[in-house]
Amino acid sequence: MSLFGMTVLGSGSSGNASIIHAPEGKILLDAGFSAKELERRMEKRSIDPAEVKAVLISHEHGDHTKGCRVFADKYGIRVYMTSPVSRIAEKNSFLPENTVLFAPGDSFPVCGLDVEAFTLPHDAMDTVGFVFRYGEWKMGVATDLGHVNTLIRERLKGCTVLMLESNHDPDILRNSSRALSLKRRILSRHGHLCNADACAALEEMITEETRHVILAHISSECNNCEIVENLALQVLAKMKREDILLRVALQETPLESFFLA
Ligand SMILES: [Zn+2]
Ligand SMILES: [Zn+2]
Repeated sequence: MSLFGMTVLGSGSSGNASIIHAPEGKILLDAGFSAKELERRMEKRSIDPAEVKAVLISHEHGDHTKGCRVFADKYGIRVYMTSPVSRIAEKNSFLPENTVLFAPGDSFPVCGLDVEAFTLPHDAMDTVGFVFRYGEWKMGVATDLGHVNTLIRERLKGCTVLMLESNHDPDILRNSSRALSLKRRILSRHGHLCNADACAALEEMITEETRHVILAHISSECNNCEIVENLALQVLAKMKREDILLRVALQETPLESFFLA
């Protein structure tokens, strides 16, 4: 039972990384911690870093790419990224030796899974979400997005595992001491998804196939895990789907691994 599953190593504005357990190895989805910290977090969840066979990068922001070059080069593995992201990686000296380019909209095999990448509205050069398919199972991940559009709704509907951003509470954000420009950036349609929008998206995306929901990229200053969990539990109760396993991804500690197959 380790053919298809997930371990969230950490999520938030200080770093994002997850392991997707696949039939032919493990995939590191984003590498937003130092290589050493990635290894430490994997070991905490009994994952051998040498079993990671590929890295997938969602976009170029540092909280998703910090350890990507050092980790990938150390283990001699391929890093999948879009070409605009690779240009920034080259310019900012984090381009790994072995890269595989893809474009939003592409489907490609990685470690025995079918992977689909799709565009997310976010203030980076090129941001994608991913869907991973294995047999009847579908795992969808979208962690940096300013709003949910028709494409995203369509791609993420009916996931067995759905990992979605629930970044901030707009009132806490507006009252925070953050700079006005940063507040505007986060609140914009190319910033980050607020709790209410994440809840509305859950209602639209959850189907009878859905078994796991993970809420991620929770702002440490402008949100809290309890608010996020309670709002999502209300959605699940309203949908009479209390059977769905709900998790809130943490910044500091990896979540327990879970497997579908
Ligand atoms: Zn970002
Ligand atoms: Zn981010």
